[in-house]
Amino acid sequence: MHSSACYVGVDIGGTKVGAGIVNREGEILWQSRVPMVSDAGAKAGLNAVRRAIDAVMQSFPGPITAIGLSCPGPLNPVSGVVLNPPNLPCWRNFPLRKLIEEAYCVPVFLDNDANAAALAEGVWGAAKDYNSCFYATIGTGIGTGIILDRLIHRGRTGSAAEGGHLVIDYRQAEVCGCGKRGCIESLASGPAIARRARAKAVEQSERGKTLLELARGDIENITAEMVGQAWNDGDALATEVLRDTTDLLAVWLGNIIDLIEPEIIVVGGGVGELISHFFERIRSELPKWSINQRCCEIPLTFASYGSNSGIAGAAALCM
Ligand SMILES: [Zn+2]
Repeated sequence: MHSSACYVGVDIGGTKVGAGIVNREGEILWQSRVPMVSDAGAKAGLNAVRRAIDAVMQSFPGPITAIGLSCPGPLNPVSGVVLNPPNLPCWRNFPLRKLIEEAYCVPVFLDNDANAAALAEGVWGAAKDYNSCFYATIGTGIGTGIILDRLIHRGRTGSAAEGGHLVIDYRQAEVCGCGKRGCIESLASGPAIARRARAKAVEQSERGKTLLELARGDIENITAEMVGQAWNDGDALATEVLRDTTDLLAVWLGNIIDLIEPEIIVVGGGVGELISHFFERIRSELPKWSINQRCCEIPLTFASYGSNSGIAGAAALCM
């Protein structure tokens, strides 16, 4: 039997709901994933979340003291209401926390996925020995979280830490998903890397051969994953694409350091893993983009929680 009480961490995504039993040391003892139903109304979405929670609670004999929910924003962490996330059309001003609390009769905590993942790194992961942390997860988008004095910095209405939408170059033609131009998300996320690679492969067809082969002859098929693969094989064009991306991230992180001077910067996510091979380059570029003379002392590390960052993050909300 497990003697110490545990939390249920629930990672709600547009297509899947993951739930895990997490102990006070941040270890995931048990987990299960079920499909998310995001297009069949509010009730169907709620039932999918309950199925994921039920699945892990049935397989775990010990006591559960709280449930944490990590969910795509925008949402209000104070009222526990999910506002209008683009990835979850089922929920509009939906009182998710209250309904889960009523169903399971334990305290329930809700926050957006990036804040939750940042907290897991702060409590148990790469940033556990630091009081402040800037966390970024880089994938199809760029989500960020700020930990100050070991707490999530939420801002006035819970809308702070949208670091992926800091504008690096407002003259960019590309419009970000948020409606602004030149956000770091529109310049350094997975789709942005793929777009940069496609443009270079069109411009320089000879150097773009490897990528074109990986994309089976159709430039439009090039993905960030393929750029990573080609870089791994020593391809010059893919390396150039990743260096350009890295240099933009250095500009961004220079701004972040000048604004909050975190004790550590933690990068997670699938594209973040690829970028982690370029951390040395970011470090060498940083002094150009930060006025902080000691900016290079700030550790820049890859996240401890990979694909489980949502479950761990949700559980961390319960601490
Ligand atoms: Zn944006």
